[in-house]
Amino acid sequence: MTDHDARPSGFSTRAIHAGQEPDPRTGAVVPAIYQVSTYKQDGVGGLREGYEYSRSANPTRTALEECLAALEEGGRGFAFASGLAGQDTVIRALLRPGDHVVVPTDAYGGTYRLINKVAQPWGIEHTAAAIADVDAVRQAIRPGQTKVVWVETPTNPLLGIADIRAVADVAHEAGALLAVDNTFATPYLQQPLALGADVVMHSTTKYCGGHSDVVGGAVVTARQIDVAGFEDAADRIAFHQNSMGAVAGPFDAWLVLRGLKTLGLRMDRHCDNAEKVVAFLQDHPAVSAVHYPGLATHPGHDVATKQMLRYGGMVSFQVKAGEQAAVDLCARTTVFTLGESLGGVESLIEHPGRMTHASVAGTELEVPADLVRLSVGIEDADDLVADLERALPRA
Ligand SMILES: *Cc1c(COP(=O)(O)O)cnc(C)c1O
Repeated sequence: MTDHDARPSGFSTRAIHAGQEPDPRTGAVVPAIYQVSTYKQDGVGGLREGYEYSRSANPTRTALEECLAALEEGGRGFAFASGLAGQDTVIRALLRPGDHVVVPTDAYGGTYRLINKVAQPWGIEHTAAAIADVDAVRQAIRPGQTKVVWVETPTNPLLGIADIRAVADVAHEAGALLAVDNTFATPYLQQPLALGADVVMHSTTKYCGGHSDVVGGAVVTARQIDVAGFEDAADRIAFHQNSMGAVAGPFDAWLVLRGLKTLGLRMDRHCDNAEKVVAFLQDHPAVSAVHYPGLATHPGHDVATKQMLRYGGMVSFQVKAGEQAAVDLCARTTVFTLGESLGGVESLIEHPGRMTHASVAGTELEVPADLVRLSVGIEDADDLVADLERALPRA
């Protein structure tokens, strides 16, 4: 295993090199796709570098796992078949029947479904709290029973911001771990472990992969976890990853590894473009509200400024003329593609109320009907603005 600490380096240097030494035999500068299930043993039990069977470990996946750990400045990285597979592994590795978890009121829908519909029937209890409000988190904690506080920041689709350091303190005081879904920010813009989190999770399907061509997940644990009873959290996650088996395949791991190499570059361009789109939308008479943590008017602006490098590529806004106008707008853009998901090089537009968030209609997670969400891509900003200008009502 490469010792990341021995070679401190900047983010993009780590993204390109961590876990990815040139192949000692051929000099190939990119890790091979080890499309293999099993490994020849040198005599019974004589494993080469520990490789035995590819559910347990595969060299392409190892490269990705080491790179992810280096980017989040964590102790160990784990790559999964999807973001939710990684989250399921975290839940089952760290929680037992009777334990309690605090979840954000505006958690990713699939995360909430996993906790509410899958973990709950197995006896894991939860309370939804407005995670941007530290007091609400404190009140939701059941001392002695709460083992994990779950945070997502920024959130989807209103870009709510949680104060990671403050929530980490509240969780730790109560003897609970802090797990942060860092999908929207990416390790380039935000490092939750450095702010006190114990576990970081990603849907690598989004910005880490970055090209809308792979579904994957990641979990990274802190170098040291001091919460009583969780000192071995990384070993528990490793055990469950192998025991449950929802691992990233070699080709998917390779695609994410390739995506990570340009993560810093892409994120800067996503942020540049998002800022230009936000400036345009703010001045447009057909738009009633713009939600972006980079705006001084955004309720999470100060915390975002403190804990993020920049404010990201996700933008949402409300259309003055209401729901139908918002829906029509989504069908009229030509550079922004109408579709779910986010974080790819291409810009996407969607109507959360009828698409990504349709399942939470009528609950406290319901989103405004006139809301439009943009995943601002890395095309030319002028084309993105012109596309929105053409598509927005003339109002
Ligand atoms: C997409 C997403 C997930 C789920 O990841 P999959 O790769 O789709 O399983 C979890 N959290 C957030 C914030 C997401 O955007």
